[in-house]
Order: sequence, then structure tokens, then C-alpha cells
Amino acid sequence: MKLKHKIHLSSTLLMFLVLLILAVVIYYSFSSLAYETEIERLESEVEVMVSTFNANNNEESPDNILRAYVPVDGLIKEKNQSSGLLDTIIQDPSVNVQIPNDVEGNSGRMEVEGEQFAYVTTPVIWPGGEVVELIVAQSLREVTANLSALRLVLISVTLLSMIPIFLSSALLGRVLTRPIEGLTGTMRRIQRDGSFEKLPVAGESRDELSQMGLTFNEMIGLLEENYRKQEEFVSNASHELKTPLTVISSYTDLLQRRGSQDPALQEEALTAIRAETERMRQLIEQLLHIARRSQAQMDWRKMDLEPVLSQVVTAMNASYDRQFHLQLSGQPLIVETDVQQLKQLLYILLDNARKYSEDRIDLEAGTDGAVYIKIRDYGVGIPKDALPHVFERFYRVDKARSRETGGFGLGLSLARELADSLRLRLEIDSIERLGTTVTIVFSGDFNVGELQSGQEG
Ligand code: ADP
Repeated sequence: MKLKHKIHLSSTLLMFLVLLILAVVIYYSFSSLAYETEIERLESEVEVMVSTFNANNNEESPDNILRAYVPVDGLIKEKNQSSGLLDTIIQDPSVNVQIPNDVEGNSGRMEVEGEQFAYVTTPVIWPGGEVVELIVAQSLREVTANLSALRLVLISVTLLSMIPIFLSSALLGRVLTRPIEGLTGTMRRIQRDGSFEKLPVAGESRDELSQMGLTFNEMIGLLEENYRKQEEFVSNASHELKTPLTVISSYTDLLQRRGSQDPALQEEALTAIRAETERMRQLIEQLLHIARRSQAQMDWRKMDLEPVLSQVVTAMNASYDRQFHLQLSGQPLIVETDVQQLKQLLYILLDNARKYSEDRIDLEAGTDGAVYIKIRDYGVGIPKDALPHVFERFYRVDKARSRETGGFGLGLSLARELADSLRLRLEIDSIERLGTTVTIVFSGDFNVGELQSGQEG
């Protein structure tokens, strides 16, 4: 069954039940109230009758007094207490039913031949001294008639009010399910066409359905963005691989045509092919690095940064003929981090400092509210307008120079991903031709993905 039909049916049924219960409660409360009132009225009438009867000093025949008090649509039965035999029945001509001789209690309600009666019993002393029990009964046909009219009104009102309820719950079902149907339709179109379609969401409303629409649109926006980035990434990576492949293919052609006669050309071709192959190997390695990053497991440990920084600086000094200086503030630098990933981040930043400068490179660490590491070089620097882009994949300030240094524009994007997973803040300050400082800040409450970049003044 469709959701809208379920909503329609269940809300109609629920409302019907509520109205039915309400009608039944109204009917029974009203009927018991009406019957009680009639019994009480009869009781007070009987009280008056008994006091008149007792005040009569044999002046009037007892039957005459009783006759004067016979209720409209009612009767009075006299029962001799000692003989138990029924003496007289005085009744209104409109009543012709047989009231039973034994009734329960002093007053109440009974049904005789399908008709409701209120009754009151009372003993009286007859002029001869005998005790006679009187049963005074009165038909409740008026109340019964009123009650059946009330029943009719309640049934009609219940049935009539079911019409707008039926229509409005159908409307409710449709209103509630329309956005869901829209969502399903959009999803189907996305599945069929591979498009990134968004839902039309009514601007003002803040209800759950518009929240669902907004969340869906945000999710689609994110998917689209990721898809676009992935496409861009694949196209950039293919482009990067195309250049070395073109060089290799041109040199192999050349070798095939003239290689055997020209040893110098042979040497040049082989050197170029080896260099380009190495470049491709490095690119593929970096791409694999990026691909594996998403699966990397974090191994968080509390530690002192000093030995880690010393190891990194020693390794860099041993690998390159350059001067890497470590400057420590002397305070203990206790942080919680994943040491392998932190080292990887430091190697990327130190390698960049090495590639884009000739002078010494400083690695400084200390605390300034939070623990920080600064990597400072005195090289070419980064132009102000390029700073916001340096963390983008495949972005290089100077393509020719990067090619010389072997860069693909992937180092800083990987560094930012590492910093995000290590919950570090990366700041980059640079002045063209003076140098670059990259600051890593350890801060527990750092919002992952946040990046600050600026230029030293
Ligand atoms: P690459 O692998 O090409 O170095 P990165 O992503 O590491 O790529 O850096 C992006 C660009 O930012 C580089 O091409 C370079 O122009 C610039 N850059 C990065 N670090 C420095 C630095 N320390 N000094 C000068 N320029 C830098």
C-alpha cells in the first residue's frame, strides 16, 4: 500500500474512532444524568404524597389521596405488608403495563415490556393501622424519546464530520508524500541520466520535509563537487603522464630511425627516457600515496616532539647536501599525534623548502598557547595571488621550475590532508624572493579542513 493511502486510511480511521468514543461517552453520560434526574424528581413527588397522606385524619379515603398523586404516565401499586397480596393499582390511563410486585431497593429504574420506568417504594400506614407498601412508577418514555433523538443527532454528526475528515486526510497524505515522491523522482532521474539534480525546496518553511530536501540538496552538491574534483584529478594525472610518455615515444622513434648510426643521439635518448621514466615513477608513487591516504589508520600517542624533530632533521641533513637547522625552545613539547603521519607531513614541507630555496632551512618548535612547528626557508617565496591555491592538487606556481625540481603540485595538497587527519592547523606565510614560513599548530579543538593563509607584512 502506498504511504499516502496509509496516511489517508489511518488518520480517517483514527478520527472515526475518536468521534465514536466521544459520541458514546456523551450519550451514556447524558442518559444516566437524565434517568437520575427523573428518579430524583419522582422521589420528591412521593415524599410530598406521603406527607399529605399522613396529614389526612381519616377525612378523605386513602385511595382518593393516592389517585390525586398518580404521576403523569405512571401508576401506584398498593401492597398489603401482612397478607403480601396486591390490593389496588391506580394508574394513569396512558400506562397499561404490568409492573412486577417485587422491585429492587427503594428507588431505581426498570424495564417493563420494552419501556423504561422510574420507581420509588415507600411504606404508609393505612387508616385501619395496616402497613401498606406503595410502589410508585412513572414511565420514562419522554426521556427515552429524547435519548433516541440524541442518538440520531450524534450518529448524523459523526457520519457528517467523517466527510471533511476523509477529504482532509486524503489531502494530508498527498501533501506529506509529495516531497518524498519528488525526492524519489529526482533520485531515479539521477540514477538514469547520471545528472546531479537538486530538489526545489520552498524557501521559508523550516519543517522536517524541507529539512530533508535541503539535506538531500547538500548531499547532491557534495557528490557533484567530489565527482568534479575526481574528474579534474584524473584529467590532471593523465595530463602529467602524457608529457613523459610523449618524450619517451619521440626518443624511441628517433632511436629506431637513427640510433644505430649516432652513438651521441643514443646516449641522449637513453638519458631522457631514463629521466622521464623516473619522473613517471615518482608521479605514480605520489598518486598511490594519495589513494592510500583514505584508508590510513591513525595511531594516536602522547609524546614529546623533540626526538621526532631531531630524527627528521638528521635524516634530511644526511640525504641532501643542505643545512637543516633545528631550533627548540627548551620547553617539553608534549602532543598527541600519529608519529608516522606527522613525519610524512614534515618531510613534505622540508622537501618543498629545499626545492624552492638555496640557503639554509630552519625548523623551529615551541609553545605559544599551543605547540607549534615552523619551517622557514629563504628562497623564492610564493606570489600573493598564488597563496590561496598552493594547497590545490596539481597546482604549481611556476610549472617550468616545478618540472625542474621534480614537483607535480601534489605535495601541499597531501600535506593539508595529513594536517586535517592529525587535527593540525597549517598556516603559510610567504614573501616573494625573501622566503616562506609554514607553521603547524597543534590544537585539539581545531576544526578539520580549516586553513589559514596570509602574507607576512
Ligand atoms: P610541488 O610538488 O610542485 O612542489 P606542492 O603542492 O608541494 O607541489 O606545492 C605547490 C606549489 O607551491 C609549488 O609548485 C611551488 O610553486 C609552491 N611552493 C610550495 N612550497 C614552497 C616554498 N617553500 N617556497 C616557494 N614556493 C613553494
